[in-house]
Amino acid sequence: MSSSSVNFSSIEFEVIAKGESNNRFIWLHGDEQTANLAIRHHLKHYDGTAFLVKSNAREVPYRDTKIDPNRIFSRSGSFKAIKKFKPEWAPGTIKVALDELDQNRKEFLTKLFPDSGGVLIAVHNNFRGYNLKSELENSTKVSLNPKENPRDFIICTDLDDFEKLSVGTYNVVLQDRPPKKDNGSLSWAAFRNGIRYVNVETRLGWLSKQKKMLEFVEESLQ
Ligand SMILES: [Zn+2]
Repeated sequence: MSSSSVNFSSIEFEVIAKGESNNRFIWLHGDEQTANLAIRHHLKHYDGTAFLVKSNAREVPYRDTKIDPNRIFSRSGSFKAIKKFKPEWAPGTIKVALDELDQNRKEFLTKLFPDSGGVLIAVHNNFRGYNLKSELENSTKVSLNPKENPRDFIICTDLDDFEKLSVGTYNVVLQDRPPKKDNGSLSWAAFRNGIRYVNVETRLGWLSKQKKMLEFVEESLQ
């Protein structure tokens, strides 16, 4: 187990690497502590490399404003993200910021994306009503379990992975078509780059559920 750190612009990540697995884990939202704990627990039992945001807040400081780390994985998403808390920018300064984010994103994704068949697993929590239903219009295949809470679900971008994950008891959706609007989330950047991406999402606080779902994803996609 080794620990280091990498940056995406002003966003810092702790990187924990264990063993030889090509699988990558990422925790992007500092206010989703259950996901952080779930990844740390998972790495006690499985190999992989985890990228853990060094923040307790959802948005992180950026220049003289703040940004949502999961909205800057495309240029159009970044444009919206940097204007959200600072609508007015001096002439020319937005372009400089977006060019810088483009460059830093490229370098960060080179380090984050797995090579040769690994999976990128993002781990999130929700606590404001966000649930599976918001994802259905962007999904091409859906496997729902009515016994499951709609706020606990798995998103994947690879058809073979969907087939393997949908035999389990969890809610699973496949998103293998580009969205009408790219909101700058990591999922679509992974999709564009042909990276197998899985999002494990549970309600905030449901740690044992999230641990079980991570274990299920790991065992199913071997
Ligand atoms: Zn999140």
